[in-house]
Amino acid sequence: MTTMNNRAAWIEGPSAQCETRPEPALVPWRLILLGAPGVGKGTQAELLHRRLRACHLSTGDVFRAAGTGADCNQSPAMKEALGYMRRGELVPDTTVWAMVRERKSCLKCSGGFILDGFPRTLTQAESLKELMDAEGLKLSAVVNYSLPFKEIVTRLGGRRTCEKCKAVYHITERPPKEEGQCDHCLGKLFQREDDRPESIKVRLETYERSTSPLIEFYRNQGVLVEVAAVGTPDDIFEDTFTQLEAKRVREVAYKVSAAQADRCE
Ligand code: ADP
Repeated sequence: MTTMNNRAAWIEGPSAQCETRPEPALVPWRLILLGAPGVGKGTQAELLHRRLRACHLSTGDVFRAAGTGADCNQSPAMKEALGYMRRGELVPDTTVWAMVRERKSCLKCSGGFILDGFPRTLTQAESLKELMDAEGLKLSAVVNYSLPFKEIVTRLGGRRTCEKCKAVYHITERPPKEEGQCDHCLGKLFQREDDRPESIKVRLETYERSTSPLIEFYRNQGVLVEVAAVGTPDDIFEDTFTQLEAKRVREVAYKVSAAQADRCE
């Protein structure tokens, strides 16, 4: 069984303490994963977390965790947010941003982060940029996963999630060793409410309209890495990892040659 950070500070909010903290990294990985619902961002985030140690921060997981808590513990804003989520619509920017800002210590964590499901609109991306600039945090890269919509629908229909550690499986593509049970923590696997066909359609349309403009936003900032989300999860992961490493090597080489040029002047 792999020991994973329980991400309590992210899932439950800043008053909770994470069970373990990722080792501080010399240069922490600070990543954003983009791509339509169902391209496998959650699966890749988990694989990236195992290799890079940075925490998997999913906004969807925060909403789902709040949804499983007692009704009386949910703020009016959270109750409203859960309604949007069930219909497959986006939660309003102000609610999402209040939730992320409250958890900014996770963005500042010396182990880095892998954001999954956030930002999802240009307004969210701009708020995040402002906060990161103010805190002196630099994005390592934004990975954009692409896949034809037909394939996405198949993936979403077969997706199962662990109710305890949130690990993601697929009934045929990535089945657990024991049916209905998580390989890592033995938690029960469930099908998400918003993976029903009518919600899937709304989510894909919303993605096209609100989230796909972020690809251009990050391309213009020179941080975009493009990955075709085809093949096995391990193939996609290797492609992602190779491209991320190559990007980092290029940046180090550029800094070294710039420093050498400075010395020669
Ligand atoms: P998906 O599989 O659709 O990528 P997520 O787990 O990221 O799912 O999110 C599930 C739902 O939570 C979304 O459909 C949306 O209702 C809500 N949500 C999560 N993150 C955001 C966000 N950044 N902005 C608005 N709504 C969000």
